[in-house]
Amino acid sequence: VEGTRYLTYERKDVGRLCPQRKDDAHKGTYGKVLMITGSQGMAGAAILSAKAAYRMGSGLVRILTPESNREVLQATLPEAVITPYGEDLENQLEELLNWADVICAGCGLGTDIQAGMIIEHLLVYLGTHRKYCVMDADGLNLISGMEEERRNTYLKAAGSSLIFTPHIREFARLLGKTTEETKKNRIGLAQEYAKTYNIILTAKDARTVVAGEGRIPYLNTSGNGAMAKAGSGDVLAGMITGCLALGMDRFDAAALGVFIHGLCGDEAREKLGAHSVLAGDLIEMASAVLQEIE
Ligand code: AMP
Ligand code: MG
Repeated sequence: VEGTRYLTYERKDVGRLCPQRKDDAHKGTYGKVLMITGSQGMAGAAILSAKAAYRMGSGLVRILTPESNREVLQATLPEAVITPYGEDLENQLEELLNWADVICAGCGLGTDIQAGMIIEHLLVYLGTHRKYCVMDADGLNLISGMEEERRNTYLKAAGSSLIFTPHIREFARLLGKTTEETKKNRIGLAQEYAKTYNIILTAKDARTVVAGEGRIPYLNTSGNGAMAKAGSGDVLAGMITGCLALGMDRFDAAALGVFIHGLCGDEAREKLGAHSVLAGDLIEMASAVLQEIE
């Protein structure tokens, strides 16, 4: 938007904002992360987001997911603790949420009744417990589908725990506007939405913007068209979650996560070529980006 001031980052800001890893750290030092991700046939989103959180430095990542995903997740990401949906999902969820320091929900979650129940319980929980939670993809779609008054009540209570990461179509659905309207005024709408609920709103696009109440909006300058591929958003959700697990505040975690995600895209394009980068490659570039700060 013309006349708007923006915050931007350069490579050297990564070192300023990212804490050095302590030598006497144990796996609890950098966060117990709960990922509520994946559904039948959508194991990939759970793998990408969890792996990205680990590569960003998280100490312990646990994935709550349907039983049908357990084997493939365990085999692909042996570092993660896999907890399949139990008989009494409500109590199980409550226990896991109490255990977690940081939460990421919605990547490949699906939108069936069970997924809807989980997101609703999560929002109620976050309304009374201040724990940071990244909400992505189907989590956002489920919230969009809730009856308006109910949604408003939940978001007013839980807003200060939340980081939303919608792409344009998801953001439009949240707002009840068309994609065109949303695209035209993306930054203004992001700021308005962030203010209404005290949510950190990460409006994804080729130039992602992060909005937060009382903050100068962050405009991302890293990244490229090689990242326009399935799974990129799952990686971003995991990276932001990893930043939270390192102890950053919500706005910094969202903005730095977006910036690092883009830097990983730039590294990946350099190495693999613009057409051939896969979402999983972004995760592998995180070590090169983060090593620069050591
Ligand atoms: P999603 O649509 O949820 O998979 O998210 C896609 C992710 O990739 C977002 O973080 C976008 O910002 C990023 N992305 C997609 N296309 C581009 C592009 N052309 N330039 C920079 N980033 C992009
Ligand atoms: Mg997505």
